[in-house]
Amino acid sequence: MNGKGVVRGLGVVIKHFLDTYIVDLQARLSGKKRYYTAEGIAERSSSKASGIFTVQYPEEKLPMPEEFRYIPFLVDDEGPEGEKDMRCTSCGICAKVCPPQCIWIVRTTDPVTGRPVPAPAEFNIDVDICMNCGLCAEFCPFDAIKMDHDYEIASYNRHRDNIFDINRLSKPASYYAKIRPTNYAREEAARQAEKEAKAAKKAGAAAAN
Ligand code: SF4
Ligand code: SF4
Repeated sequence: MNGKGVVRGLGVVIKHFLDTYIVDLQARLSGKKRYYTAEGIAERSSSKASGIFTVQYPEEKLPMPEEFRYIPFLVDDEGPEGEKDMRCTSCGICAKVCPPQCIWIVRTTDPVTGRPVPAPAEFNIDVDICMNCGLCAEFCPFDAIKMDHDYEIASYNRHRDNIFDINRLSKPASYYAKIRPTNYAREEAARQAEKEAKAAKKAGAAAAN
């Protein structure tokens, strides 16, 4: 009979409604913190969660998986004196491969010789057009552009705020290491191995002479 199904469905709804109070109460009595803690978010995100399991955004945020990607950012190394050392050489590969063509770069020019300098004078990304594909980061030969985890970029003025310039895009390598520790460690190991191979080759050539 159809009426039975309706009653059973209502029973499920009422049980879930009551659970939202009961589970919170049980947690409070047992001293557990269900909200605003990493453990609380993990518990409410598990498949066994009952009661309220929604994330209380913006007070709470889900931890992003390492491969989550949003808007790209430029990676800055730190020089020996702690100065900013941009990895980007303004080669333009990222701008060429970007499917919606939302990156534009102006290369630095030496004021004396007029020759191009391998560093960007300007680097802009229209973040409203970026489709978060990550191709720019995949193709960059210098590990200079990476995909960010920061998704809180809403603004009221697209033309003023949503064209990210070089200052807005630049972040230190330590930030990259923090949000993508596995990728960072793998890339650093590869860079170190390349450095050692070059040094060994140089030493070998010097010994042969
Ligand atoms: S971010 Fe990478 S690919 Fe893009 S211009 Fe700079 S060095 Fe070249
Ligand atoms: S993530 Fe994709 S769309 Fe966005 S700037 Fe990079 S290549 Fe372009």
